[in-house]
Amino acid sequence: MKISNLHLPESLVESYKKKGIEDLYPPQEECVRMGLLENKNLLISIPTASGKTLVAEMAMHKHIENGGKCLYVVPLKALAAEKFSEFSDKGVRVGIATGDLDKKDDFLGKNDIIITTSEKADSLLRNRAVWMNMITCLVLDEAHLIDSEDRGATLEMVITKLRYLNDNMQVIALTATIGNPKKFAEWLSADLVTSKWRPVDLKEGVFFSDTIYSDTEEKKIKTPTKHDDANLCLDCIEEGGQCLVFVNSRRNAEGFAKRMAKVLEKSDFSDPELEIIQKKLEDAAETEMGRILAICTGKGASFHHAGMKKDQRQIVEQGFRDGHIKVISSTPTLAAGLNLPARRVIIRDYMRFKGGFGMVPIPVREYRQMAGRAGRPHLDPYGEAVLIAKGRESANGLYEEFIDAPAEDVKSRLDDESIITAHILSLISTGFVKESADLVSFLERTFYVYLNKKSKYLSKIVDNAVEFLESAEMITRLGDQLSATEYGNLVSRLYINPVTAEIITEKLKEKQNAINEGEKILLDSSKTGFKEEEKENKETVFSDIGLLQLLCTTPDMYTMYVKKDDLPVLEKFFYEHEDELWVGLSYDTMEEDFAVLKTAMLLDNWINEIGDETICTRFNVGPGDIYNVVESMKWLLYSASRISYMMAPDLRVRVREVELRMKHGIKRELLPLVKLRNIGRVRARRLFNNGFSSPEKIKNADFSKLSAILGKKIAEDVLEQVKREEHDYPGSDYSKKENGSGFSE
Ligand code: ADP
Repeated sequence: MKISNLHLPESLVESYKKKGIEDLYPPQEECVRMGLLENKNLLISIPTASGKTLVAEMAMHKHIENGGKCLYVVPLKALAAEKFSEFSDKGVRVGIATGDLDKKDDFLGKNDIIITTSEKADSLLRNRAVWMNMITCLVLDEAHLIDSEDRGATLEMVITKLRYLNDNMQVIALTATIGNPKKFAEWLSADLVTSKWRPVDLKEGVFFSDTIYSDTEEKKIKTPTKHDDANLCLDCIEEGGQCLVFVNSRRNAEGFAKRMAKVLEKSDFSDPELEIIQKKLEDAAETEMGRILAICTGKGASFHHAGMKKDQRQIVEQGFRDGHIKVISSTPTLAAGLNLPARRVIIRDYMRFKGGFGMVPIPVREYRQMAGRAGRPHLDPYGEAVLIAKGRESANGLYEEFIDAPAEDVKSRLDDESIITAHILSLISTGFVKESADLVSFLERTFYVYLNKKSKYLSKIVDNAVEFLESAEMITRLGDQLSATEYGNLVSRLYINPVTAEIITEKLKEKQNAINEGEKILLDSSKTGFKEEEKENKETVFSDIGLLQLLCTTPDMYTMYVKKDDLPVLEKFFYEHEDELWVGLSYDTMEEDFAVLKTAMLLDNWINEIGDETICTRFNVGPGDIYNVVESMKWLLYSASRISYMMAPDLRVRVREVELRMKHGIKRELLPLVKLRNIGRVRARRLFNNGFSSPEKIKNADFSKLSAILGKKIAEDVLEQVKREEHDYPGSDYSKKENGSGFSE
């Protein structure tokens, strides 16, 4: 089928032509036949790289031509950026929304295509962005993630709400192979397109001894080393291919890359470009892991996992796409989204540790996603996915367990009452529903109820949720009418679980009361001369580590895994700081309590300017972990700050201070300095250590001294800022927040 015959906008057809795309792939043709361009809802379940994005793009351009607006929902921020560049420069306006969750982002509505994550889409709905009522085409990329444990419920609510708001909206759901596509399609009122067609043939096989066994052939390979995984890689590289090796932990990913680098060093393989890539990685390296990454990559073997920083990952991805890096060993995160195919995919670790269960096989869907990465269109003659068997017996087992096994069904994740409660609050707060009965009928439209037909339990679940929200004073009930309180609206807009909000509110109120009582004593005791002692008492009521520990116990924060080696350090910390902690440790929940403590300690290190490298060694983590955990905590501290403003105003300055320290990774003494534009943690520390502890001190500074510290340009800018003698500096977080969200100090 010729694309030029589809009556698509000329600019789109031209852009495809430029890329050499003139004919549709067979599954794409099937989508068109099924009504893709005639507003039909479709669930498209076809293999990776068979052109799903192009299908969605054609439909979106059709809508835009008719004055419509499209929302493209992706699971990861990184994927949003990838799609943004793919959709741009084709004659339509494209916007991307992945940022802060409490903004309405009205300007986004000006775009024809808005790319967003499901969390951001939900928050835009909660913040009542008007243009969300104007969506004519909804694309769900990786729609099977409705099944994702931590994020599926949000995606399900987004779909349900948008369908509720926009009657004739076309839904295009793109998914990996799933076990129950018919059910999923029925819920979406969609027709189903399935196909096994791939642009590059895929051979799936099992490696045992020295042979890859597949349905069609038995291929013997050379075994120059004693390691199967390395031999499989060498064999593929000698034939001109590249390999992805999937392993089950970061340590294994790094370990394999080190071993493979040594093997490549001894082989004939060489590529001068690798030196340049190695240099880039050396420049980006701040830790031991970064330096190891650079060395291995320089030999042609690299690794990829979430503990790495974004720039490190990007350098590795590009080096692989350009064909220089020959092998990447990776944790399964790489299989989930990134478009990074290789000729041979080796699934080395198909067992994974699961708390409470020990080692369990990975899901079939995950195996398929990994296998689907095999074969670069136009570059490889075929793709190969190879599982490594531990023995002859297991070779047969692997065939049954993965290659021939049906994919798992997708299920709904709204089966958790605390998650339903959070969504119910948002439904009330955003005025989606006004009465309990409406709540039930709205929830009846969800995938959860569609699959379980559990309407009779539903009213019980709804009753429980409404009761909880009422007792937490997040909603009020007047007869049948439900409405959110100011506090409830805030919690919904902050996009945190109501349980989290309750944990924060209760503790902050308790602390505020304690402080107020302390203040009374303080006044009284001033007469009796005990003032200093009482002051000390007041200080200890509020502690940074206490607040961090509290926030780490909430359902919105994930915590770090505790290893055996961590225990002595954690125990020591606990005994030394017991008085400052806000949550007691219990013998029954020791494992979780220590995980909370470890995470809080790491964050406390961060706001006390302990270097990345020390944090990584001390807590057994990578720099990417520090980034992730700080990012999550930043949002929770911002939320706590907003909540304290409303519920415990005496503490708001203290909470806000911790929020800003987390944002910049600084001690309290640097806070006055980071209010200045262009002054972050490093420059602020340099200024402070040179005696410039406040903007006032900078004002009288000798210019040459200041420019020696900051460089001429920044010194000039900073001087100009402080001389303006404004109360709020341009870079001040206080002024920014005031403009952005109505939150002022
Ligand atoms: P998926 O989303 O299914 O993984 P993509 O849409 O990313 O796959 O497509 C994979 C690659 O195939 C892209 O580089 C895309 O440009 C290309 N492609 C898609 N459709 C066609 C087509 N009909 N002819 C040639 N190349 C195509």
